[in-house]
Amino acid sequence: MSYQDATETSVSFGQPPPREDMQQQWRLITQLHRSYILIENEKGLLLIDQHAAHERINYERIAEQMDGNDAVQKQLLAVPQTIELSLKEKNLLTAHLPHFNDIGFELEFFGGNTVLVRALPLSLRTSELPALIRNLLNDLSGESAECENTTDELKEKTKRVRRTLLYALACRSAVMFGDVLSEEEQRALVSELAKTKNNQSCVHGRPTSYQISLDDLAKWFKRK
Ligand SMILES: [Zn+2]
Repeated sequence: MSYQDATETSVSFGQPPPREDMQQQWRLITQLHRSYILIENEKGLLLIDQHAAHERINYERIAEQMDGNDAVQKQLLAVPQTIELSLKEKNLLTAHLPHFNDIGFELEFFGGNTVLVRALPLSLRTSELPALIRNLLNDLSGESAECENTTDELKEKTKRVRRTLLYALACRSAVMFGDVLSEEEQRALVSELAKTKNNQSCVHGRPTSYQISLDDLAKWFKRK
């Protein structure tokens, strides 16, 4: 049985993660139903939710770029795309345009309710662009387009909007259930997850992994 090099590719489990778990060696078994990655580790069997794990990885990467004032990596469209918005969507976008540009979009109004997309975050798929913009705006529909009365209110609102967009971006850039991953991609996902600061849950608070210990198995099979 060959294990990955533990120093390169260790992964942690349990809540909170004890130090020794961070050192665990692991071996990729397979991708289950195009949804979960199965890992053999020293404790037993670890199941990883591929979407939740990828979402966590994306979130920490994008947040780090934004906090460090590094530009979020973007892709320029050879041919800018136009998207027809509803009036409500247009008003929301007008109010939050700087935040969209912060997370890697380059958007500008093109007359009427049409918006021109010149660039989008590198991690997003261009084919889903109109639906994506609408979804992001929908996520912000609870935020008023009005100006806030105090600077504290404005600060709070800015924080909320950025967080909402960041969560949405992390989620929509992630592999979905049903996506086939190569063995290399599966290993990379596990290694990257291990490096995140909070590898226990996705940004929506759902767990990224589920550990079944050898002890659990022994009990199940009435060997104990
Ligand atoms: Zn998600």
